[in-house]
Amino acid sequence: MKSAHQDVGNQFDSTALLRSVNLRPTRQRKALAELLLRHGDRHITAELLHEEALRAGVKISLATVYNTLHQFVDAGLLRELVVDSGRAYFDTNTSHHHHFFDEDTGALMDIPGDAVAVGSLPHAPNGRQISRVDVIVRVRKDDA
Ligand SMILES: [Zn+2]
Repeated sequence: MKSAHQDVGNQFDSTALLRSVNLRPTRQRKALAELLLRHGDRHITAELLHEEALRAGVKISLATVYNTLHQFVDAGLLRELVVDSGRAYFDTNTSHHHHFFDEDTGALMDIPGDAVAVGSLPHAPNGRQISRVDVIVRVRKDDA
């Protein structure tokens, strides 16, 4: 369940990574790629990444953070997970896996792809094919 671009430690080269997916390595893209991908797998919202960028001294608007995250998704560097309407998380682990979503804290935790078996699926609508099944298992504090 490792992403191809993690565990690179100090060797992380955002310019090479961006070029490898045909994105021009602009200053803002490089800064966001470094914040996102340098530290292994994470799930982060655009708002949190924006705050991290500002704290790191990167001058960037929230709109640019959103646009850049979606460019990274389109390029295959990230996966977008929409947990609730209006709550999108960006996942640096692009391998096949599922998630626990903690309703109390809003945290997402990875579930290995082979730990979930989906018993049966409906046929895709006419002219469509199933591209992927994402399972989100919602958890909350145990009442017991
Ligand atoms: Zn994940």
